[in-house]
Amino acid sequence: CGIFGVYAPEEDVAKLTYFGLYALQHRGQESAGIATFAGEAIHHYKNMGLVSQVFNEEILSKLPGEIAVGHTRYSTTGSSLKVNAQPAVVETRLGSLALAHNGNLVNTKELREELTRRNCSFLTTTDSEMIAIAIGNEVDQGKDWLEAALTAFQLCQGAYSLVVGTPVGLMGVRDPHGIRPLVVGLLPSTSTRPARYVLASETCGLDIIGAEYLRSVEPGELVWITEEGMASFHWAEKPQPKMCVFEMIYFARPDSVVHDESLYSYRMRIGERLAEESHTDADIVIAVPDSGVPAAIGYAKKSGIPYGEGLIKNRYVGRTFIQPTQAMRESGIRMKLNPLRDVLAGKRVILVDDSIVRGTTSKKIVKALRDAGATEVHMKISSPPVTHPCFYGLDTDTQDQLIAATKSIEEIAQQIGVDSLTYLSWQGMLETTGEDINHFCSACFTGDYPITIPENVKRAKLI
Ligand code: 5GP
Ligand code: SF4
Ligand code: MG
Repeated sequence: CGIFGVYAPEEDVAKLTYFGLYALQHRGQESAGIATFAGEAIHHYKNMGLVSQVFNEEILSKLPGEIAVGHTRYSTTGSSLKVNAQPAVVETRLGSLALAHNGNLVNTKELREELTRRNCSFLTTTDSEMIAIAIGNEVDQGKDWLEAALTAFQLCQGAYSLVVGTPVGLMGVRDPHGIRPLVVGLLPSTSTRPARYVLASETCGLDIIGAEYLRSVEPGELVWITEEGMASFHWAEKPQPKMCVFEMIYFARPDSVVHDESLYSYRMRIGERLAEESHTDADIVIAVPDSGVPAAIGYAKKSGIPYGEGLIKNRYVGRTFIQPTQAMRESGIRMKLNPLRDVLAGKRVILVDDSIVRGTTSKKIVKALRDAGATEVHMKISSPPVTHPCFYGLDTDTQDQLIAATKSIEEIAQQIGVDSLTYLSWQGMLETTGEDINHFCSACFTGDYPITIPENVKRAKLI
């Protein structure tokens, strides 16, 4: 999911949020929503669809205020329904609360039981609403916003980056492992205007509205933005940074910056490493657009084999992977990529992509390249084999769906129909990511899950 928040009295906060979400659209295309606070009053609107389909000038004009929270949804828990769209809005003793969540709790069952015991009722089946209700319940027991939130997080286990709006301030939070990203930025201030803060999943959400990147919210940190400025609380006992390495490899936008480097440069470096690790004679290097492009350019640069475009993508359809059903996914790919026959005919092709999950997309692409006349197709993947499912907010499905969980590399190559298949080595991943790799979750390659997953949840997804 994409989350966004802004504290900016005197600005059109709904419009800033609209554009922020527009830049974060790649993080989820199922639904979009914005909530604004004008003093005590909350205004909100959400619906199914892309940000540009959900909102228009008229709807935005009915969202006045000083504080706004926005969300674009990629469903992991709770089905793809309007009622599950976010921000989740909850009424409390101190007024309304609007919460946007990116991530996935692993103890939803226990949390729901605890909240039911406290006589809370639910509108939806999402873990995100449960976090909002947990905070609201603490407020209703007499705590202020800050105390309420900090107490509620003690009940939450799993991945949660949050933006929470209240009538008096805006909160940004990352769980103690910081699995999902969240950054803080500043809108340019003037002598008459105090600093105005922005929260966004990625730096590209700041760039689009001209906000300056200040820093990341740290794992286990809560930032509380009010008329007095921004206060920071390190609430987790033992924060242990474990940001999702797949944000780096695939999920986040290439123009977003993580650890002072654009993900474009990072992905190019992994492509170079891939070329160092495996030499294959070929005539052209092409990418699976868009996610494979930087790695393919890096591969071409290092190998000396020319880079070209062999597949043209229709940019106006959503990411195939994010569509909820297999049937939709399969029809999605045909709409999405078209091979360039005159570039490919008679060529030995190196096809670079960031990852193989189920292998369904890859298989179709390889067939399309051969139909377009490629004589050989050698696939190079700029990450190690994905053998384990994600429980922290990326819908990589159950383990039995992951092609590398049960098949050897030779078997995968055969299934997707390539002449050869090479993955980036684990060592290569370690070295390109830097000594920081311990600061990342890489469980989908290793099965080493940084946040304990309850047995019942594990059983539902692991073979
Ligand atoms: P497959 O061949 O496994 O069906 O599809 C692989 C493609 O799915 C890659 O191009 C990758 O960029 C894309 N993809 C889409 N969503 C995800 C995701 O959530 N995780 C990963 N690892 N890859 C994804
Ligand atoms: Fe990211 Fe994989 Fe960890 Fe999920 S399991 S958070 S996709 S690295
Ligand atoms: Mg891709």
